[in-house]
Amino acid sequence: MAESRSGKPNVLFLLPPGWDALSKALFGHDAFNSFLHGKDHYAPAQIDYFVGFRPPHGFLKTLPRLKAIFSLGAGVDGFLRDPEFPRHLPVVRFVDETLQREMAQYVTMHILIVHRGQRGFDAGQRDSAWRQKMLSRPTRDVRVGILGMGDIGAVTAERLLMFDFQVLGWSRSRKDVPGVKSYAGPQELGAFLGQCDFMVCMLPLTPETEGILNAKLLSQLPQGAWLMNVGRGGHGNEPDILAALDSGQLGGAILDVFQTEPLPPDSPFWTHPKVTVTPHIAGITDPRNASAFVVDCVTRAESGAPFKNLVDLGRGY
Ligand code: NDP
Repeated sequence: MAESRSGKPNVLFLLPPGWDALSKALFGHDAFNSFLHGKDHYAPAQIDYFVGFRPPHGFLKTLPRLKAIFSLGAGVDGFLRDPEFPRHLPVVRFVDETLQREMAQYVTMHILIVHRGQRGFDAGQRDSAWRQKMLSRPTRDVRVGILGMGDIGAVTAERLLMFDFQVLGWSRSRKDVPGVKSYAGPQELGAFLGQCDFMVCMLPLTPETEGILNAKLLSQLPQGAWLMNVGRGGHGNEPDILAALDSGQLGGAILDVFQTEPLPPDSPFWTHPKVTVTPHIAGITDPRNASAFVVDCVTRAESGAPFKNLVDLGRGY
């Protein structure tokens, strides 16, 4: 696995801890030589392609022959925040139907849990108490706003519509997704926010979207709205979110991503009665699909074919 054979491109993998299944699926392809950072010996000067998620800052500039970067995440903020990131190189991001469906499943599941009052029934069971409660309003009257109507947002919208929710979306450009009311640009953000009973952040983290979930934005939601953040921790102004929860401006929050990950044990989010915390698992990268993605990227690069899902480094996503 670690031997460099001539005539084949050399691909370096730098995988987060715990991604064992992924590394097994990704290795052993005949078309290229694979090197796992931290395990295999490799010559940095001979690496042609990099595959990973969040390399340490300054790492990529130590690979002088690099021709392209393949991100195993849909978001590429983990690369672009490196001040020494080699901006002349193409970056391809992982766009995957399985990931999109799993994100949609996470969002739909958590909205249904809140909407159907399941947490109250869980508490009833703990008390052996038969506490019937009807829906406060029919599903068709509940509005879910998706902040970031991209590849994942569009699939999530479809799934929410299947359950009869009203769905609206906000993005930079206007979208034409059947059944979804589209809002575009900063000038339409206020109108969008005012109609969200649930607001789900699925934005990429860029200089424009960093800290967007702040007091100003939250104050424009209807009182008692729920916030879900499955984008990036950097979208959230955490003190503002806590203040909005405590004031009742937010009815609750479902948070999968945080400013600091893993979430520190003393974070108030862990024990806040109105918060559900999950450890950045809304979308899980499927090893087989990731493997096919890498093979496709290397094959395209070597044959000169255009990449699919090339990141626009100017926009940051
Ligand atoms: P896309 O690039 O397909 O979609 C991004 C969307 O955000 C687009 O609709 C884009 O608008 C919109 N957008 C970006 N910047 C702005 C802005 N300044 N103002 C308004 N709208 C904006 O990304 P994906 O859907 O594939 O992924 C979205 C994000 O989800 C990822 O970047 C990542 O952060 C997060 N993610 C989280 C995971 C988890 O496990 N929690 C797993 C996977 C992804 P337009 O279409 O007009 O360009």
